[in-house]
Amino acid sequence: MAYKTIYPFTNETLKEYANHTDAELEQAIASGHALYKKWRRENNLEERKAQLHKVADLLRRDADKYAETITKDMGKLIGEAKGEVLLCADIADYYADKADEFLKPQVLETAAGEAYYIKQSIGVIFAVEPWNFPFYQVMRVFAPNFIAGNPMLLKHASCCPGSAVAFEDLVREAGVEEGAFKNLFISYEQVSKAISDKRIAGACLTGSERGGASIAEEAGRNLKKSSLELGGNDAFIVLDDADMDEVKAVMNFARLFNAGQVCTSSKRFIVTEKNYDRFVRDLVEVFSQAKWGDPMDPSTTLAPLSSAQAKKDVLKAIDVAVANGAVVEYGNKPIDHPGNFVMPTVITGIDKNNPLYNKEVFGPVGEVYKVKDEAEAIALANDSSYGLGGTVFSSNLDHAREVAAQIETGMSFINSGWTSLPELPFGGIKNSGYGRELSELGFTTFINEHLVFTP
Ligand code: NAP
Repeated sequence: MAYKTIYPFTNETLKEYANHTDAELEQAIASGHALYKKWRRENNLEERKAQLHKVADLLRRDADKYAETITKDMGKLIGEAKGEVLLCADIADYYADKADEFLKPQVLETAAGEAYYIKQSIGVIFAVEPWNFPFYQVMRVFAPNFIAGNPMLLKHASCCPGSAVAFEDLVREAGVEEGAFKNLFISYEQVSKAISDKRIAGACLTGSERGGASIAEEAGRNLKKSSLELGGNDAFIVLDDADMDEVKAVMNFARLFNAGQVCTSSKRFIVTEKNYDRFVRDLVEVFSQAKWGDPMDPSTTLAPLSSAQAKKDVLKAIDVAVANGAVVEYGNKPIDHPGNFVMPTVITGIDKNNPLYNKEVFGPVGEVYKVKDEAEAIALANDSSYGLGGTVFSSNLDHAREVAAQIETGMSFINSGWTSLPELPFGGIKNSGYGRELSELGFTTFINEHLVFTP
């Protein structure tokens, strides 16, 4: 069985789940499609708003229970898992509160007559989601589409089935109608089959470039709208006039949150000569303070990686980097424990020919690049196939924002680490994908802006 909860702290298999059959997949599509038609006939927006608020209430009431499910699936620290659940509650409330505003018809200025567009649902959305935020990634799709009137089918990562089932139970407990949300334990082949079904109106994926390309290809072949949230290799630029105490204060969060398994984690620290030595010293100090251990223990600050394979991949990326001339300033020592731990590692001396230069490392690895000046920092930040997020540190806020505007990316954070809030759009450019989730932009992804024109 492909869908299993293997607890990353012990590598013990806690539970296995049977795959859904083709008949069950067909039933899920049919039920979602029937509900979409029903919602188009009867406008039950008030009911859906109340149900989404109820989802938020349940998430807050049972946050500890859901957090434990997340931690057991993919190993993140229990406090981080609880934070994720509470953020999901905020996202649910946000879309329920904003529903009327986001669905209001938009009047258009024209001398040729009266024109406006109404915002309508388009049908069932098929979402493929990753394990690094097993609830949040799902909520980013579910909440806006539920309000829009688009039912959702989910293929979650095979390593976090407990979270997928818990999310489905949550939605059911909130009184949401059958067909509005369905988790499916299915194969890649079944995913392709589902996306090609004419009752599926759109597809989205958060995950790797390879997975994204596959979903986009299937959607494109079938002329379906798609949205992709893919990897990142975000730059964290430290300019000459950065407040280095502030920089040090965010280092842990910027790179070690979720054991470094965050798409918008700061993966490339780009530091001007003036601050370089202090920066490396501080990063080593901060990384050396990370306390690895049981993710259920609130005093632990570094969790195991999500799987044995994830650990192998990170260690291999470090080895390859070192074999190509990079220098390990700290870390890269084995941790004697059955869990998937990787010691926080600081790497310098990465030149353009090093495979690490354009590789996203999904783990607690900080790459530090020394640059002469700001122009070089911008050029290096942009010399990447990714364009998801990024950070600029400078004491001059206006200047930091000007520098941010020169970075080819979807999100920039000034004098802070990355963040995600319901009202802030999330997404990237280049190989980091296309489309946005969260905020009003995320709401419009799978909406039909239907023009009504009267000359
Ligand atoms: P992944 O291998 O692409 O897996 C993500 C999801 O896609 C899983 O459910 C996976 O299923 C599924 N999948 C992969 N290939 C597929 C295919 N050909 N057909 C159907 N489903 C497919 O990604 P990952 O490496 O586990 O996740 C980490 C990546 O996600 C990183 O690159 C990270 O940066 C990115 N990410 C991006 C964002 C964002 O918002 N931009 C947020 C979080 C993570 P299985 O588990 O069954 O293989």
